Amino acid sequence: MRLKRKFKNTIYIASTLVFGWVITVSGISAMKHLNKLDAVEFRVEGETRFTLPADQADEVDLILKKYKLNYLSKSSIAPEAKILKVDFQQKIEIIPVKVDDEFTFNSIDDLTADLSRNEVEADWYTIVSGDNLWQIAMDRTDVTLTTIQDYNPLLDLNAIIYPGKEILLKPADPVYDVEVHLENIALEPVEFDTIRIKDESLLTSQRVILKEGIEGEKKVVYDITIVNGYPTEVLAIQETVLKQPVSAEVKVGTKRTVGRSGGNNYGVVSGRLSSNYGYRTHPISGRRIFHNGIDLAAPTGTAVYAYADGKVTSVSQDNTLGKYITIDHGGGLKTRYLHLSAYKVSVGDKVTAGQRIGSVGNTGYSTGSHLHFEVLKNGSYVSPWNYI
Ligand SMILES: [Zn+2]
Repeated sequence: MRLKRKFKNTIYIASTLVFGWVITVSGISAMKHLNKLDAVEFRVEGETRFTLPADQADEVDLILKKYKLNYLSKSSIAPEAKILKVDFQQKIEIIPVKVDDEFTFNSIDDLTADLSRNEVEADWYTIVSGDNLWQIAMDRTDVTLTTIQDYNPLLDLNAIIYPGKEILLKPADPVYDVEVHLENIALEPVEFDTIRIKDESLLTSQRVILKEGIEGEKKVVYDITIVNGYPTEVLAIQETVLKQPVSAEVKVGTKRTVGRSGGNNYGVVSGRLSSNYGYRTHPISGRRIFHNGIDLAAPTGTAVYAYADGKVTSVSQDNTLGKYITIDHGGGLKTRYLHLSAYKVSVGDKVTAGQRIGSVGNTGYSTGSHLHFEVLKNGSYVSPWNYI
C-alpha cells in the first residue's frame, strides 16, 4: 500500500510538470490520455461491477468482511463450533487498475446498495385461525416441516401456533451469497432396543414393562454448510459411542381384540372417519379444542361392536355424550362409545371382542349420525389409532 501511494505521488508531480508544459504547447486535450489515476475494480465472476479510487480499497475490503461476518452471527452457530470457511459463493476480486483522470468513479454507496439487493425476496406467511404447520407444508411443494424448522429455529413445531404469527417459508436470496462451512460436535442419545415377550393373558394392545430401557450416548461430528444464514447440508461424518444403551424388556399381549378388515371397517364400527383424534376446530362452537377420540360417520342404526373382551361399566345418557357405553378391559384400559341411538348391553355385562353392544346415533352434542370412539389408558385419553 505504501509503495502504491509513493507511485501515485510521483505521477502527481510528473503530471503537474507535464501540465505546465502541455498547456502552453498543445492545449488540455492532449494530456488526458497521459494522466492516469490509480483505481480498483470490484469484480464478480470476472465481470467489473464497480470502479473505485484506489485509496478506498481498504474500505471495500472492510465492507465485504462485515457483510460476511454478519451471516456468521445471524446463523446462530454454537460458540464451540469450528469455523472452517466463511466466503462468498461467487468469485469476488478487487483488482488494481489505471483509469483516465476524467473517469467517473462509483461510490462506496453503490457497493453497499448492491450488497443489500436480493434476487428473490423472502417469503413470510402470517398464521390465520385454524392453520396448522403440517397443512401449510402440505399445501406448498417447496415447503416441508423440516425447512420450516430450519428457517424458524425458535419455533416449536409441537406448540400451538397463534393467528398473526409470522413464519418464514423461504428466506431471501441475496445477490451475494455467503457460504459458511463448519464442524460441530454434538452429544446424542443412542436408542435402546426393546425385547418383546409374548403373554396370552394380555390384550394385543396391552404392554407391561418388565425392565426400563436406558439410552446410551454418542459423540457425533457434523460437517455443516450454511448458505446465507440457513443450513443447506448437515452431514454426520463421525460417530463415537460413549455409553452403550441397555435394552428394555416388555411383555406384550396376544389376546385378540376386534379386527379391522380394511377399507372403512374400523372394527368397532364400519364408517367414514369424519374427525380425527387431536386438536381441531369444533364444528359447533368454532373453538379450538382437543378432540379426545375419533368420529366415525355411519348411518343411524349401524352396529357398534365391543373393542375387546371386558365388562360394561356404564350404559348412560348425558346432554353432551348422548347415549354412551363404557367397557373396562382390565389392565387400566377402557373404551367409550358415544352418541348412540340404542344399547344392546347393560351395566355389569361381560362382553367379548366383536360382540354387538349398540347402534350408531346422533344423540347428545353431535352434528350428525356418527360413533365417537375413545380409548382411556389409566384414566387418560390416548390416540385410538394405537389400538384399532
Ligand atoms: Zn367426537
